Amino acid sequence: MAVTSLVKKRNMHDVIKAIKYHGPLSNADIVRLTGLTSATATNFTKELADKGLINEEGPADSTGGRRAFLYRFNPKRFYIVGVVISIKKISVGILDLDLNIIQKNECPYDFCGHTVEQGIQYIADKVKTVIAGYDMANIAGVGISVPGPVNFEKGLIYRLTNIPNWKNIALKDIMEKILNLKVVVDKDSNCNAFCFHWLDGDNGNKNLVYLSTVEGTGSGIIINGAVHRGDHGVAGEIGHISIDVNGELCNCGNHGCIEHFASNLGILNSAKEKLKSGCVSSLTGACGDDPDSLSFEMIIHAAKQGDAMSSEILWKAADYISVCIDNVIKAYDPSQIILDSRWLNDFQDLYFYIVNKVFESTNFVDRQDVSIRLNNVDELFLKGAGTLILESQFNWNNGESLLLQF
Ligand SMILES: [Zn+2]
Repeated sequence: MAVTSLVKKRNMHDVIKAIKYHGPLSNADIVRLTGLTSATATNFTKELADKGLINEEGPADSTGGRRAFLYRFNPKRFYIVGVVISIKKISVGILDLDLNIIQKNECPYDFCGHTVEQGIQYIADKVKTVIAGYDMANIAGVGISVPGPVNFEKGLIYRLTNIPNWKNIALKDIMEKILNLKVVVDKDSNCNAFCFHWLDGDNGNKNLVYLSTVEGTGSGIIINGAVHRGDHGVAGEIGHISIDVNGELCNCGNHGCIEHFASNLGILNSAKEKLKSGCVSSLTGACGDDPDSLSFEMIIHAAKQGDAMSSEILWKAADYISVCIDNVIKAYDPSQIILDSRWLNDFQDLYFYIVNKVFESTNFVDRQDVSIRLNNVDELFLKGAGTLILESQFNWNNGESLLLQF
């Protein structure tokens, strides 16, 4: 590729990003933000407007001179398909380039109860259903978020701990052949971490960790503005760090993984054990005196109603979540940690307990240096899947980017 073409792509990329994150902008604003000459900026905005990537608005407020038009990013020029694979369900949605969800379809599906081939066909069928009616030329690609380590470059799933038959699956290649669309695959926590980085735009923290304690416990790590995946896709698997060498055997092959204490699964197992050992709780009635039929939601409900045993289990889980955060700070030293827990939003006292405990137990960082906040993004997993395509389209180095084809 000619050097001038590369320079043009990079400059054009700067213009698109400036308008997307700071728009609406006048030509003078674009010159100020990108350092381009006025003539070059004018040529670029004309080209981007012709492609439909920006819309012309205006004129801007008159300051006495010639009135300037304003340019605003058009997030609906292309659409993204987001796919989220979970153990027992699949979500497929259409998003615009600002990660707004246009359409969403969520279906229960037991991946463990079907062959890999059946699972892949099911995903493909769901994608085909949501894109029916869209012009394929306007679909920028399909981002697939999966619950386990991935070889990102190859789009190959190494293994899904909780869906054991999904091992060494070249999902990107297979889906691209079936759908005839660009496909990007990554681990869910990496997608979600990067989603926060994108949503925060130019103000985003360069070092950020997304820590999820939902079905399992995992993290996505952003270092210097890029996802840190490691050489084998294992980086961030904090849930499988052992904190009890004699502990219970985990699906990952390790003993006493922190996931067994901090996650919803750990909370559920702890409640079952307590009921079986004869502890007094309103849960006994809730589960019909059958501890094995207990659900996580029953524990949360009982704790909200003041059940002492359920509350005690949640406080214990909070202790382990604080240990996770403490480990994250010491391993990666981020300025921002986003904690994703479906139940902590309803127990603010436990959230503050966790934050206080973290800063009481470490002398390495001060409270004002690290922000620990709860996830407040709706449909984070679907938006995270969409982020995969957003990133690949906005990467000026990517020759396949639809946004930068001239
Ligand atoms: Zn494990």
